[in-house]
Amino acid sequence: MEERNELLITRLERWYADHARDLPWRHTDDAYKIWVSEIILQQTRVAQGYDYYLRFIERFPDVSSLAAADEDEVMKYWQGLGYYSRARNMHAAARDVVARFAGHFPSTYDDIRSLKGVGDYTAAAIASIAYNLPHAVVDGNVYRVLSRLFDVDIPIDTPDGKRYFAELAGAMLHRENARVYNQAIMEFGALQCVPSGCDCEQCPVQDMCAAYAAGCVGKLPVKQGKVSMKSRYFYYFAIECNGSTWLQKRVGNDIWRNLYEFPLIEMTREVDFLELQQSDAYQKLFEGVGRVTFTAQPYSCRHVLTHRIIYATFYTVHLDSVSSNISHLTQLPTTDIERYAVSRLTEMYLQWREK
Ligand code: SF4
Repeated sequence: MEERNELLITRLERWYADHARDLPWRHTDDAYKIWVSEIILQQTRVAQGYDYYLRFIERFPDVSSLAAADEDEVMKYWQGLGYYSRARNMHAAARDVVARFAGHFPSTYDDIRSLKGVGDYTAAAIASIAYNLPHAVVDGNVYRVLSRLFDVDIPIDTPDGKRYFAELAGAMLHRENARVYNQAIMEFGALQCVPSGCDCEQCPVQDMCAAYAAGCVGKLPVKQGKVSMKSRYFYYFAIECNGSTWLQKRVGNDIWRNLYEFPLIEMTREVDFLELQQSDAYQKLFEGVGRVTFTAQPYSCRHVLTHRIIYATFYTVHLDSVSSNISHLTQLPTTDIERYAVSRLTEMYLQWREK
């Protein structure tokens, strides 16, 4: 390895020893727990994921307990974290570990990578952190640190960029100490070499940073594409009748799969209540129910997901009787709703209603 890279590694690892945050998953080499932490921390900030991790590990301390759990319960422990396919995939992978590896979390990169929901980054993170195997991680933090240290402006969201940075990360890896090095470079990106406003004057590798020397720190890393946002219009009906309410489980290949929600009418554009009332879906929902009493003002909000903006309105409705058209939905005592895993959007409505 080049002398320059050796010096960079030494300084990053020393910086890590002095600055690493004290996090529960850093006190274990249990691959299962590291896997859980890695999945939670995909798309989730450490501050938000911290308590979820502790609760999840307390309830599912090993892969067997997760595999044996009911999916609804796993989803409930995930409620509020978003990106629910992570929880579904973890549950399926835990069952796979029991079936294929007799309940022992796999210990090679390829076997780890073969689990559902585990991509290149996560497999490298688990293999290196749990087993000290020489696989370089490349996450958003690593892209940023490497692009700046070496002043690379190849867009990171292109096949060329991904290939280039994977090779660069591999060349930089401290192979004998992958466990520490990988965590060091990710933590360095999370705390020191941050997206904007990083304190380069206090940086331990400033004299080796090509972007600092070139005065282009703020321009790196480069991204090519902007994500296009799609708008969706959800109209929910929180129905109450004789102490019961009704939920439906979302199915199909869409957001929030396997989470519960109130009966929903989705429209292709924003509509007023009159137009909503005239829709076939509304007529079907309230067919033959007699009087429909709205017991609260509608609750409206705008909820932003990765590729979508949801414009949602919740109607709180009391009925004397319900339509047979909702008999296929889950009927439950209104007071039991807390037991069901719901999206953050529905949770926001429930919190609003509690006030
Ligand atoms: S000098 Fe600034 S841009 Fe370069 S590695 Fe350090 S913090 Fe990052």
